[in-house]
Amino acid sequence: MTKRRGHTQAGRAAAGPGPVTGPVTDRTTAAAVTAPVQQAYARYARQAGAWIGRYQEQGGRVFCGAGCSACCNMPIRVSLAEALVTAQALTPVRAAGMAAHAEAVIRNARSARSDEEYVQRHREQVGFCPLLDRASGACTAYDARPTRCRDTFSAFPAVYCAVGTLEGMTPRERATYHREVARTPGTDGEWHFIAPLEHLSEPVWVAAARAMRQQWGLEVWGDFWVLTTLARSAEFMAEIGRGRARGAWQVAARLQLAHGAVLEIG
Ligand code: SF4
Ligand code: SF4
Repeated sequence: MTKRRGHTQAGRAAAGPGPVTGPVTDRTTAAAVTAPVQQAYARYARQAGAWIGRYQEQGGRVFCGAGCSACCNMPIRVSLAEALVTAQALTPVRAAGMAAHAEAVIRNARSARSDEEYVQRHREQVGFCPLLDRASGACTAYDARPTRCRDTFSAFPAVYCAVGTLEGMTPRERATYHREVARTPGTDGEWHFIAPLEHLSEPVWVAAARAMRQQWGLEVWGDFWVLTTLARSAEFMAEIGRGRARGAWQVAARLQLAHGAVLEIG
C-alpha cells in the first residue's frame, strides 16, 4: 500500500550524509521557483475544499483531521521547488532532524532489494517524519508541507492507513476490504484514498516543473527529506542555479546524499 506518498523511482536514496548546515539559497532567487508552487498550493486548497464540500453533501466521508498522522511514515516524493518551500520554513533544530532522516532514507535506499521492501522498511524502520509532533500528531511545518501531504485524503478510518494493517490482513479480510473500497465513492476502486483529490494536485507538479525549468534549465525530483536537506546546502543550490546537473550531483555525492533512487537531476 504505497499510494499516498507516490513512491515511484524517487522515493529512495544512498549513504549517510554529513551535516548540511548552510543557509537556504538566496531568497530572491529561490522565490522564482517557490512562488509558483505556493500559488499552486493555494489554488489546490480552494479546489480541494470545494470538492470535499460537494462530496460530503452527497454522503461521502473524509476521515483525515487534526492530529491524525498514521500516514506520516510513508515515503514522499517532491520537486526541489517544493523542498525549498519547506527548507525555508525550518529552524536549525528541525533542519538537523531532516538531515538525520535523510541519512536513514539513504541507508534504506542502498540496501533495499525492491521498491516494496524500500517502502515497507521506510515505514517501519526509517519511521515518522521528523516534522511530526508525535505528542499532538500535528505537522510542525503545516504551511510548508509538500504536495503529497496536502493531497492525501482517506475515505476509511486512519487505522487503514497505519503500517501493518493491510499487510496483516488474512486473504478473507483483504477481500472484504477491497469489496468495501470498490463500493466507496471517490476511491480508485483499489485503495481507500480519495483519488480525485490526488488528481486535483497535478497542476502543482506542473507548476513546479515549469518553474524549475525556467529558472535553472533543469528539474530536480526526489525524496522529501533528501531534497529538503540539499536545498539548505548553499553549494548544492549554487550548482543548481548555474544549471549544472553534474556539479550538483557531485556536491550531493560529497554530502552522501546522491543515489539514483532518491535524487534525479536533469
Ligand atoms: S490519510 Fe489516513 S492517517 Fe493520514 S490524515 Fe488521513 S485518515 Fe489520517
Ligand atoms: S511534512 Fe508534516 S504532514 Fe508531511 S509527513 Fe511530515 S509531519 Fe506529516
